[in-house]
Amino acid sequence: MHYGYEGRVAVITGGSSGIGLATAETLLRSGAKVALCARNPDRLNDAASRLARVHGEDRVLARALSVLDAEAVGRFAGEVRDRFGRCDLLVNNAGQGRVSTFAETSDDDWRAEYELKLFSQIYPTRAFLPMLREAKGAIVAVNSLLAYQPEPHMVCTSSARAGVQNLLKSLSVELAPDVRVNAILVGLVDSGQWARRFADREDRSQSRADWYRALAARKGIPLGRLGEPAEAAAAIAFLGSPAASYITGAQLEVSGGLSRHI
Ligand code: NDP
Repeated sequence: MHYGYEGRVAVITGGSSGIGLATAETLLRSGAKVALCARNPDRLNDAASRLARVHGEDRVLARALSVLDAEAVGRFAGEVRDRFGRCDLLVNNAGQGRVSTFAETSDDDWRAEYELKLFSQIYPTRAFLPMLREAKGAIVAVNSLLAYQPEPHMVCTSSARAGVQNLLKSLSVELAPDVRVNAILVGLVDSGQWARRFADREDRSQSRADWYRALAARKGIPLGRLGEPAEAAAAIAFLGSPAASYITGAQLEVSGGLSRHI
């Protein structure tokens, strides 16, 4: 699928694996130049080198940083401007879920989770906003179905995700008509997070295929499987593209039908 990103520049936070990396690949194939960030420099540089080999050194920029470091995010925005001169799409994707019930979640955990979920939107949005306004660009946030359908074993992630949806709605109004702001709501997508949980599984005799099949069945996913990162990337690419030019303040579910609300 080609989404028409020729001449455009996309910034993807958390671009070294999973949904972020698949989004970089999809956007590069659609003609964009991409800038990626993530904390672990080795994983990021590996990913960026692979992308640059296929799509060209001049189309990929990678910087190791945490999106929770406002100064580093600001410097990253400056480097994107110096190197590419513009930013048309910001994909706020960096992060991970926290598995804990209310009883297990300490005050520090609550603070860390709210900081990650909210400031991973706030700092990059603030840093890239001038370029996004100039380009009449778009923000796509990678959020979770947990925002609307909380899970008791992910109590603080669910609650913070709902706060993110609320923030995005406000941004979509405040930044209009210059910048569109939308979200995807991910159910279960087979990425680094699930690979780590598979590696930590209790029943070591269970194969990867069996573990994933059992997970999809236990969760009651109507399509009967986890999503692929490329399937989330396709939704992000659509929402960020000119094809979605009249869509803002919206959310697109990528969950295999997992939601139970209408
Ligand atoms: P991955 O673990 O595969 O990718 C996460 C990416 O984010 C990595 O590149 C990681 O690199 C980066 N990252 C994490 N924290 C930071 C940080 N503070 N600063 C910069 N980069 C960071 O997971 P997914 O692809 O699944 O996750 C993408 C997003 O989707 C996340 O926000 C996740 O919570 C969300 N999501 C995913 C679901 C799923 O089922 N996969 C379900 C619901 C939501 P590094 O560790 O090196 O920083």
